[in-house]
Amino acid sequence: MFKQDLLRELLEGMDMMEDQVSGPLFRFREMILDWNDKINLTAITDEEEMYLKHFIDSYLIIKTDLNLNKKKILDLGTGAGFPGIPLALYFKNSDFTLVDSLAKRIAFLERVVGELGLKNVTLIHGRAEDLAKLDDHRERYDLVISRAVAELPVLLEYALPFVKKGGDFVAYKGSQYVKELENSHNALELLGGEIAGTFEFELPLNHEFRALIQVHKVMQTPFRYPRKPGKASKNPL
Ligand code: SAH
Repeated sequence: MFKQDLLRELLEGMDMMEDQVSGPLFRFREMILDWNDKINLTAITDEEEMYLKHFIDSYLIIKTDLNLNKKKILDLGTGAGFPGIPLALYFKNSDFTLVDSLAKRIAFLERVVGELGLKNVTLIHGRAEDLAKLDDHRERYDLVISRAVAELPVLLEYALPFVKKGGDFVAYKGSQYVKELENSHNALELLGGEIAGTFEFELPLNHEFRALIQVHKVMQTPFRYPRKPGKASKNPL
């Protein structure tokens, strides 16, 4: 089977309309491989592995109860563009803001957005702790998403200040999520979040376990959060 056919099949297995995304995703992978020599983007380069662990993994949120249409969405610590770029390709009527503190990764994503013609993506180089203090970003997003950036108590301090009251934060996690949840009670209380649901998945083919944690924002976050850059990770709430 041609590998792009594998990608199409995997997307169809997610009940997705694959025709609008399989071509751009294929090109996205080529760009990642190209740039990976110059800047460190990902350790996952094998074709099938990238489809599963980056692309299909990014789309798992489609299988939750959340509606991703016509939303203002922030991907925090997007790295090489996950889950933000695959989702922006599929949900064209939502606006995506992708943030990362590494300038080189944002420079790479500028090229990706240009090449793929993505009109619904804004890229920002910066740290969550700084951006969340700015009026343009604080409590402005319907949905914040984040994968592989920090453990949940730390991640909540980065992410919840960006979420509008009544909006949601979704953390992409692995099997360690139960322990992270147990350690998050204090952070949730202080930051105005409530666990709305956890969704467990198995990736196709390799059967790896994944979990998405949905946190609903029930109260405004006090302005003292997030604390100064570096504080959250050094001394989690
Ligand atoms: N979400 C991507 C990348 C994970 S690596 C994926 O799942 O593949 C974590 C990324 O988060 C790195 O690119 C790092 O630069 C970024 N990051 C870590 N702490 C951050 C912070 N405080 N603010 C913004 N970006 C951060």
